[in-house]
Amino acid sequence: MIRPKNPIQAWHALVEGNHRFVSGAPAHPRQDIDQLAGQAEKQKPFAALFGCSDSRLSAEIIFDVGLGDLFVVRNAGQVIAETILGSLEYAVEVLEVPLILVLGHDECGAIRATMDANEGKLQANGEYIHNLVDRITPTLLEAKAQGFHEIDEITDLHVRETIAEMISRSDLIQNRIESGKLAVVGANYVLELGEVHQIQAVGNID
Ligand SMILES: [Zn+2]
Repeated sequence: MIRPKNPIQAWHALVEGNHRFVSGAPAHPRQDIDQLAGQAEKQKPFAALFGCSDSRLSAEIIFDVGLGDLFVVRNAGQVIAETILGSLEYAVEVLEVPLILVLGHDECGAIRATMDANEGKLQANGEYIHNLVDRITPTLLEAKAQGFHEIDEITDLHVRETIAEMISRSDLIQNRIESGKLAVVGANYVLELGEVHQIQAVGNID
């Protein structure tokens, strides 16, 4: 593969990799030990992925890519935090990735926990579990105000709001999008099918 150099090429590379994975014919590129020597000096990933920590959302597997291809940032429910923004800005400014993919998924446990907490049913004691749920709660309340009550509708809105928060808080990311050097795509991963479905794109990817 020639390394994708712009948002269009980067998005197409991810879409094609996911198609290979879903079709049951992955190429497993750049995953062998021979890769290591050529990469030890520096990394040159072609995209950043900010997604949920869910164990079924294994980035390199579902996009059929290899070592050095993706700069991956994950936490439960893909919740924006300063350290997340710092990691993504590093990927954009220093590593010059042309694409950030924000990846949620159906039946997300973090979204479910937020729904449970809202109904006083959350079965968890951890202080920081509640902190994380508190960060998703505004999206849940907004979804309800818009008439959305299904978990996957709330997850879609959460991906959109995550992107909006990322762009509004990071001048660097906003400027790169405006210059055409960066696009941010929001997508949903369907656990049962292995498919990545686009929700939103900011910047040109077609
Ligand atoms: Zn999740």
